[in-house]
Order: sequence, then structure tokens, then C-alpha cells
Amino acid sequence: LAYQPKMNCRDGHISGFEALIRWNHPARGRIAPDTFIPLAEETGHIRQLTEWVIFQAIEDQKALRSNGFDLPISVNISGRQLSDDGFALWAIGKVRSAGARLCFEITETAVISDPDKALSIIHLFRGAGISISIDDYGAGLSSLSYLKQIPAHELKIDKSFVLEIENGTTDRLMIQSTVELAHALGMSVVAEGVENGNVVEILRELGADTLQGYHISRPLPLPDILAFLSTHTQRRDIA
Ligand code: C2E
Ligand code: CA
Ligand code: CA
Repeated sequence: LAYQPKMNCRDGHISGFEALIRWNHPARGRIAPDTFIPLAEETGHIRQLTEWVIFQAIEDQKALRSNGFDLPISVNISGRQLSDDGFALWAIGKVRSAGARLCFEITETAVISDPDKALSIIHLFRGAGISISIDDYGAGLSSLSYLKQIPAHELKIDKSFVLEIENGTTDRLMIQSTVELAHALGMSVVAEGVENGNVVEILRELGADTLQGYHISRPLPLPDILAFLSTHTQRRDIA
């Protein structure tokens, strides 16, 4: 599991991490999650995979805590798990017994197939103290009616908009209006895909709350995250 830091846009402090799974195959080398996550979904292995991610994230959060860094970790939750009561109860039990601080990143499309079921599971997560984030906002079939119904704490603007932010006014306008909409609905806004300092400046002007991207840090294994955290306090240059 790798962790990518999330940085507060105003003061530059690290406010949490996103857990991103990695697979180093002995013969095939690195296999991208975009390749094997859909396979895990199709072959019925996604629940096991996600449970491993949650288990590992909780263990790593304990290690971070014991080094003085008590920070929330975001985990990606696949769409079909929003209709899986067994998974939801397992995850809630695990989070409660460990006293973990987790956020579940879901996509709006995950809610579309069975909205009543998905929303009831999202409410269960919230009730257990798990934060909810809407991932890849703007990339798929984003619908205002779902945005209104999903009780999320956070909205993540898809990186396709952020990567284009320097190239024209349209993406900028879309980000600005999305920030206003999210704030009006009581959500904080994360911009992902932040690759340089100029983009940091633009996103700060547009009112984003949190930034994530290669400019702040690539996703790193736990030992490198500990090293990153101990040097970041001095690195005001990227903020
Ligand atoms: P995502 O949830 O949208 O994760 C963000 C992706 O953007 C990650 O790719 C990350 O490495 C990449 N990224 C971060 N900063 C930058 C940047 O500045 N520029 C660019 N161009 N890219 C950046 P990654 O790790 O390859 O993951 C791809 C996707 O695989 C994720 O997209 C997520 O949908 C899925 N995924 C990864 N880990 C898990 C997992 O544990 N469970 C599930 N269900 N899905 C996962
Ligand atoms: Ca994500
Ligand atoms: Ca995303």
C-alpha cells in the first residue's frame, strides 16, 4: 500500500493521506491498479482486496500515530461494495475496534445502480465516524440530484480538470463553480493532480481547501511517508 499526502491549501500542513494499492508481480513487474481493480471487481475478489487495504491502512495509521503523526487515511471503496451489507458491517466493526480515523472515497456512479441501498450504507459509515468523500467528481455521470443526496464531507475534483487548469479558462471556471457548489452544500474541496507550484496558486485563488498531487508528493510506502513528514514542516516552499 502506498500513501499520497493531502496538503491544506492555506497553511501547507499535511492533513491526511490517500491509500493507493500497489502490485509488484514477481514475473510481470508493476501492474497498475487501473488494470487489476476492474479484474478484482469482475472476478469477485474486490471485497477481499478492500478488506486487506482497510486492515493495512489501520495498521499503518497506528505506526504513524506512534511516531507522533495522528492523521486520517482515505481508502477507495469500489461501487459494488455500497450494496454489500456484509462488507459494511465488517468495515464498521474494524474501524470501531481500532479507533481508526478513516475516510471512504466513493464515486457518484456507485450510487446510481441502487441509490436507496447505497445511501443507507453511506449513512451507516457516517454513523460509525467514517468520513465520506466523493471521488473523481466531474469525470463520470455527475448528477446534481445525487450530489444533493450523498451526505459527503468532501468532494474531490477529478484530476482531468486540474491537469488542464493552466491551459484555458473553461476548466478554471468549472473548478470555481464546483468549489462554490460544494461549499454551499457544506463539503470541503480537494483538488487532485496538482503537478506544479503555478497550479497551487491558481487553486488557492479558486478557493480549494486541500491539494493532492505529484508537486506535493508522489504516493510513497510507509517508511518514506515518515521521512516525508519529518522534513515537510521545513518545506514551506511547496505551500
Ligand atoms: P484515484 O482514486 O483517482 O487515485 C488517484 C490516482 O492519481 C492515483 O493513481 C495517483 O497515483 C494518481 N496521481 C496522484 N497525483 C497525481 C498527479 O499529480 N498527476 C497525475 N497525472 N496523477 C496523479 P493510481 O495509484 O495508479 O490509482 C489509479 C486508480 O486505481 C485510483 O484512482 C483508484 O480508482 C484505483 N485504486 C487505487 N487503489 C485502490 C484501492 O485500494 N481500492 C480500490 N477500489 N481502488 C483503488
Ligand atoms: Ca481516490
Ligand atoms: Ca480520484
